[in-house]
Amino acid sequence: MPVSSSDRPLAAASKNAAKPSPAQQAMRKLGLVRDIDLALHLPLRYEDETRITLLKNAREGDTVQIEATVTDCEVQLRPRRMLKITVDDGSASCQLTFFSFYASQQKAMAVGTRWRIRGEVKGGFWGRQMLHPTYKKPEGALPQALTPIYPVAHGLPQAYIRRAVASALQRVALPETLPEHAPPPIPNYWDGNALKPLLNLREALLFLHNPSPQVALDTLQDHSHPAWQRLKAEELLAQQLSQYQARQERSRLAAPPLQPTAQQAAIVSQLLAALPFSLTAAQQRVVQEITADMARTQPMHRLLQGDVGSGKTVVAALAAMQCIAAGWQCALMAPTEILAEQHFAKLVGWLEPILAPLGKQVAWLSGAQKKKERTAMLEIIASGQAALVVGTHAVIQEQVQFLNLALAVIDEQHRFGVAQRLALRQKLAHAKLEPHLLMMSATPIPRTLAMSYYADLDVSVIDALPPGRTPIVTRVLPDSRKDELIERLAAQLAQGRQVYWVCPLIEESETLDLSNATATHAELSAALPGVLVGLLHSRMSPAEKKAVMQMFASGLMGLLVATTVIEVGVDVPNASLMVIEHAERFGLSQLHQLRGRVGRGAVASACVLLYSVGDSGKLSDNGKERLRAMAETNDGFEIARRDLEIRGPGEFLGARQSGAAMLRFADLEQDMALLEWARELAPQMLQQYPRQAQQHIERWLGSKAEYLKA
Ligand code: ADP
Ligand code: MG
Repeated sequence: MPVSSSDRPLAAASKNAAKPSPAQQAMRKLGLVRDIDLALHLPLRYEDETRITLLKNAREGDTVQIEATVTDCEVQLRPRRMLKITVDDGSASCQLTFFSFYASQQKAMAVGTRWRIRGEVKGGFWGRQMLHPTYKKPEGALPQALTPIYPVAHGLPQAYIRRAVASALQRVALPETLPEHAPPPIPNYWDGNALKPLLNLREALLFLHNPSPQVALDTLQDHSHPAWQRLKAEELLAQQLSQYQARQERSRLAAPPLQPTAQQAAIVSQLLAALPFSLTAAQQRVVQEITADMARTQPMHRLLQGDVGSGKTVVAALAAMQCIAAGWQCALMAPTEILAEQHFAKLVGWLEPILAPLGKQVAWLSGAQKKKERTAMLEIIASGQAALVVGTHAVIQEQVQFLNLALAVIDEQHRFGVAQRLALRQKLAHAKLEPHLLMMSATPIPRTLAMSYYADLDVSVIDALPPGRTPIVTRVLPDSRKDELIERLAAQLAQGRQVYWVCPLIEESETLDLSNATATHAELSAALPGVLVGLLHSRMSPAEKKAVMQMFASGLMGLLVATTVIEVGVDVPNASLMVIEHAERFGLSQLHQLRGRVGRGAVASACVLLYSVGDSGKLSDNGKERLRAMAETNDGFEIARRDLEIRGPGEFLGARQSGAAMLRFADLEQDMALLEWARELAPQMLQQYPRQAQQHIERWLGSKAEYLKA
C-alpha cells in the first residue's frame, strides 16, 4: 500500500523499533499506527478540569476539581490499612481516603502542601469525603478545553495516549476530500449564536479531541453534535466508496460468458423435466436473474438468499447445468462434511443421468477422503471429465487444478472467510478470467446492512417456500419439564415420526454445566425402549457421521441426538420434531437454522426450546428476548431483524464476513440520513474525483481496504 506523508508511523514508535514499549504495543494492537489512525481515535468521554470548585459549593455526588491545602495526614490501620488526608480550601474541608498507597505518596502529601484534586464528593457523618481522587501539583493554568478520556487497552496509560494523539493531530495532513460542490451531509447548524456551515474534518477533530467546556455534553455523548455528524458522514462515505470501488474493479474483470446454444441448453431442460417437483415462481425468478448474469462477460457476484427450506439447492443445480451446457466446469463448496455430502448425493442423483451419456460426471472432494480416491478426483477435475466438483474447503486447495472453472457456488456463504472466497475466485486466474460467483445464504440481510455492506453485491431472494409446507409450531419450556416432554415424544415416535434432539456441547465443561450429548444419548436410549436412538457430534469421523445420517434419513432411526453439527442445510423431510436443549445458549439465527431442519415435509412440525435458568435462577433479558422471538415468528427476515437489534451489526456480520472494517462511529439505524447521503455521493465521487476518493478510502480504511473487496 502506498504510504502518503500523513501515514508516517509515529516518531516514538520508530525510534525504538527494536523493542516497542508495552504502551506502543498496546497502541499497535488498537490499530493506532499512522498519525491519521490516532487522529481518528476519538474520546469515549470527557472530564471537566477547566474549573476549580469551592468545596462549600460542591454538592454530594458532583465530580469536582478543587485546590486545597493538606491539614492532616495519617495512616489508619482499622478497619483496614488506609491513608486519610484532610484538606481545606478556605471555604470548607474534605477528607481524602486511599486504600492503596505508597509511602512516597504519604510523604509527598505532607501537611501544608497544596494540591489540585479531582474526585466525586460524598457527604456523610464525618463530613465531605473523596475516595481515591486524582491529584496533582497546582501548577500551570487550568486547561481551556474538556479533558478527553480515550479508549485504551491494557498497558496504555491515558496520559500516554493523550500525548500521542495530541502530537499526531499536529503532524497529520488532513486535506479536504469532499468535492467542493458535493451536497453537505448535514444542513447548516445553529451554534448558539449563528448559523454555521459544516465543519471541515480538521475543525471537527480538533473540537472532538478538546471540546470547549460550554458545549452541551449530551450532544457529544450521543454523537449528535455537528462535529460528530461530520465524522460519521466521512466514515460512511469511506465505506460506500470502497464498496463501489470494488464493484467497479470487478466490472473491469472478464468472465467467460455462459450462454449455451439452443442445442447445448437442452440438458438444462432435461434436468428441469427430471425433477420430482416443479419450481416455484420465486425459484423461477431467481433462476432467470442468475442465468442472465452468467451470460455476461463480467463475473457475476450474486447472493442468493432464501429462508431455510426455500429450495436454494435446486437453483444452484440449474446454474451448474447452464455452466456445464456451455462447456465449462462448476464448483460447489459447502462448510461442513455432512452438508457437502448431502449436496453431492443430491446432485449426483439429479445430474449424472444426464451427464453420463456425455462422458461427464460429478466429482467429490473432502479433507477426509483417501489419498487414492483424491488423486483420482484431482485427475478428472484437471482433465475436465468432472463437469461439477462438490466438496468442502478441500475444493480451494492449491493442488486442485480445474481445466476451465467458470462458476463457483458457495453454500452458507457466511460460514466462509474472505480469504476462502478469494481463493475460489483465483482458480481461473491462469486464463486471465474470473469465474462467476454465486453465494447462497439462509441468513437474510436486513435492509440497513444490505445498503451499507453489500453495495457491491447483487441479491436474489427466494421469498416463498415450496407448496405444502406446514408452519412449525414453537414451544418454550423450562427443562424441569423434560420428563413430561420425553413421554410425549414416545407417543409421537410410536406413530413413526422422527425427532432431532440438539445439545450444545460434547463434553462436560466445568464452567458451563451443559448437558453432554453422550449422557443425553444414554438417558434417552434408556427412557425410550424400542426406539433406535442415534448420536452425532463433531468429534466423529466423517464415515461415522455419514453412517448415522444415512440411518436417520432411511427412517430406521427414530431419534437423533446431535450437537450443532446438524445446524446447516441437513435435509431429512420426514423429521418433524426438534428439541433444542439449553436453547438460551444459542444465538437467534442459529436457533432459526436448527429449527429449519424440520417443517420440510407435509406433516405438521414442532420445535421445543428447552431452557435452563442455571444458578442465577432466571434467564438473562437477552436470552428471554431470543426465545420470545423464536416463539413469535417463523419468518427468517423478521428473525434477522430482531437479531440485528439484539446483537448489533458487528456481531451480526461477524468479523469474518465484514473484513474487520466495522463502522466505529456511525450507527446504521440512527444515521440513516447520512448513509443515504454517502450512497448518493460515492459513485459520483469515484467517477469525477477519483484522486480524492482514493485519499478518502485510505484515510479511513488504510490497510483494511483490500480486505473489503472479496
Ligand atoms: P435450502 O434453501 O434450505 O437449502 P433445500 O434446497 O435443501 O433448501 O430444499 C429444501 C427441500 O425442499 C428439499 O427437500 C428440496 O428437494 C425441496 N424443494 C425444493 N424446491 C421445491 C419445490 N419447488 N417444490 C417442492 N419441493 C421443493
Ligand atoms: Mg441449503
